[in-house]
Amino acid sequence: MDKNLRKAVIAGNWKMNKTPAETTALINELKPLVENADCDIIVCVPYINLNAAIDAAKGSLIKVGAQNCHWEKSGAFTGEVSALMLSDIGIEYVIIGHSERRTYFGDTDLTVNKRTKAAIEKGLTVILCVGEYLEQREQGITFEVVRSQLKIALMGISEADLDKVIIAYEPVWAIGTGKTATAAEANEVNCAIRSLIAEMYSKENADKIVIQYGGSMNAKNADELLSEYDVDGGLIGGASLIAADFAAIIKAASK
Ligand code: PEP
Repeated sequence: MDKNLRKAVIAGNWKMNKTPAETTALINELKPLVENADCDIIVCVPYINLNAAIDAAKGSLIKVGAQNCHWEKSGAFTGEVSALMLSDIGIEYVIIGHSERRTYFGDTDLTVNKRTKAAIEKGLTVILCVGEYLEQREQGITFEVVRSQLKIALMGISEADLDKVIIAYEPVWAIGTGKTATAAEANEVNCAIRSLIAEMYSKENADKIVIQYGGSMNAKNADELLSEYDVDGGLIGGASLIAADFAAIIKAASK
């Protein structure tokens, strides 16, 4: 497998942070810092900031994504936003299955699958998050957990659809905790994910698919994590809210 087949993707998950005005300011600060980047850059902002982000990112390499979407086109789903609504305003990316959605908002492998299918149907690229809890790692069942999450999330996703999927391996114990998986731990799981894709689809699909690592990636550890063979980018929470730190990660991914 050839790492050079894949362009790194660095995505920021802003979570529930920033107002529209602060969104404009942060993207404006980031733009000059990343104008020579040689990786894909995405910022996934709260729904209410999507339009501000699209406007601020115009003319730059920065693409804009959402942090979730519902699987129905419309209807009686108070508080939800559909994939159709996102694509209609020009959004190209959406995070699906983030552990915070699974832990706090009842997302399950089956709803992750429904959201993934709906998003792809509307032309969005999905950043599909999987990862184990600390207890599961300690139990030695990390691979089983991640395999099962992926097998269910990808039910009904064709080989062609897979071009619209980025996988983010995010060990739950490393998200927002300052505790990072070692580069070897991240690579080991990413490698297992790539083998699963080869098994479920083909070697060609496995070679092509972008598999990110997420979990306390920052300006200091990005270089080491991103130099691993199967780590094709990062999904970054906290450090994506500081322009200089996010730009440093983008620089590490551009090497
Ligand atoms: C995330 O929210 O996906 C994430 C990885 O957060 P952090 O970088 O803050 O751990």
